[in-house]
Amino acid sequence: MKISRHKKVHKYLNFFCNNYGFRQPYQILIDGTICFAALKNKLSLKEQLPKYLGGDVKLLTTPCVILETERLGPNLYGAMIIVKQFPVHKCTHQTKPVSGAACLASMLGETNPSRYMIATQDRELQEVARRIPGTPLIYLHQKTPTLEQPSKVSSQVAEINSKTRFLIGQKDEVVLSDLKKRKLDEPESGPQKNKRKKGGPNPLSCKKKKKKSSIATQKPSTSENKPKRKRKRVKIPKHIKEMLLQTSVQS
Ligand SMILES: [Zn+2]
Repeated sequence: MKISRHKKVHKYLNFFCNNYGFRQPYQILIDGTICFAALKNKLSLKEQLPKYLGGDVKLLTTPCVILETERLGPNLYGAMIIVKQFPVHKCTHQTKPVSGAACLASMLGETNPSRYMIATQDRELQEVARRIPGTPLIYLHQKTPTLEQPSKVSSQVAEINSKTRFLIGQKDEVVLSDLKKRKLDEPESGPQKNKRKKGGPNPLSCKKKKKKSSIATQKPSTSENKPKRKRKRVKIPKHIKEMLLQTSVQS
């Protein structure tokens, strides 16, 4: 029995870690109702929750939860003492305190971005927690802490997320294959250009153009090209130059 219980806890925790990024120390928001139940069952949340979850935990409460237990009077005196043992997490209700349940619900928001676990016996707050994807819910079943199976919403959202991750992965693959194709196309277009260069111009016309350009672009030519052109100029006799000039003008 014990082993299967631990297996379940491990399985559920893995679910929240893998799908919702939960990490140790797990932050557990505690309210007055679970403190009341712990006191009634003579159970220490501080000791039992880390043991049960098999990891580091941070038990937290809020000013609103403390105020509520204070307001409820002598019946909740013991619970109030327990609640006050935990570090107090700031909430947004400093000027206008709300009920413990409303306060913890507001800490969760719509998507529980801070990855809180909720520890409560309050049925309404439990329902709220179940509706928020990625919210682990802990309560006491008599003397036994219980991490509830991930809610339907949590499971559904996790499934959608993993599917979109898969689709994004597929899209990446398509983009990659496109890139690969393009890269494969590049070398094909490369040789084509070279072919044009090799086969295109008539070698005879090439010679003429070179000489023509050497004369026409002498002034703006760079220092690198100058020596070569000078040498060529020296080699060409004047009358041939004139002939070439004439033919280039004609063409
Ligand atoms: Zn509050």
